[in-house]
Amino acid sequence: MNPVTGPAIILRCLAYGEADRIVTFLSRDHGLLKGFARSARTSRKRFGAALEPLAETVLCWRQPQRGTLVDLQEAEGGNLHLELRRDLEVVALASYGCELVEGLCAEEQPCPEVFAVVRAFLAYLDTQPATPETRLLMELRLLSLSGYAPHLTNCCRCGGPLGEQTVPLDIPGGALCRRCAASDHTPSISLPTLGSLARSLRTRPTLFAGFRFSPRTLEEAGILVSLLLRHHLQTLPKSLSLLTPDRS
Ligand SMILES: [Zn+2]
Repeated sequence: MNPVTGPAIILRCLAYGEADRIVTFLSRDHGLLKGFARSARTSRKRFGAALEPLAETVLCWRQPQRGTLVDLQEAEGGNLHLELRRDLEVVALASYGCELVEGLCAEEQPCPEVFAVVRAFLAYLDTQPATPETRLLMELRLLSLSGYAPHLTNCCRCGGPLGEQTVPLDIPGGALCRRCAASDHTPSISLPTLGSLARSLRTRPTLFAGFRFSPRTLEEAGILVSLLLRHHLQTLPKSLSLLTPDRS
């Protein structure tokens, strides 16, 4: 079978045996993939440092004859994002984004929009601090592009208007109108927060600069996102415990 070559972002890299590596990567044109890099640890000629997590590179691989791991052939150049490795909080946020991609995206489903968002997110973190806004935008966009965006502007059950200032929440559906909310015991969120989140999802998904959310919006949105991720992810990202605030 002919080799495939294309842009990729390395999400995770595990040592395997004496010399090999197993690499999870996001390919622009082929989606989330796992690959086997034979002798990647002993011979750096074919891969160099390009298989380090967070690196952007051009990968060449062959489809497997059996099993699910593609056979990685070589990596050509790329951007290792050395700048964002300057600061533990920035690395933690970048790693968290990579873990979310792995947890939310289906394998082998091409999603160039997710690739563009992750690429822009890493480029932004090369020069900017790890802010709660950057984290929230990344979380919302990945949820949305994975098909898990909650209803923010109308009721997720009946489609009706929300009206009240405090809106009950359904997880994973999103906002509920008073008529559809079964009781007052569900978590709730304020109408202005829902409006801010809906507006931010309408912006260009690769744009991270220039957003400011109020402390209340960040707190309420953090609770909503945390509930959604707990619902949709099989395991919570390990890097979550390194982020501030820790919402794990
Ligand atoms: Zn309703």
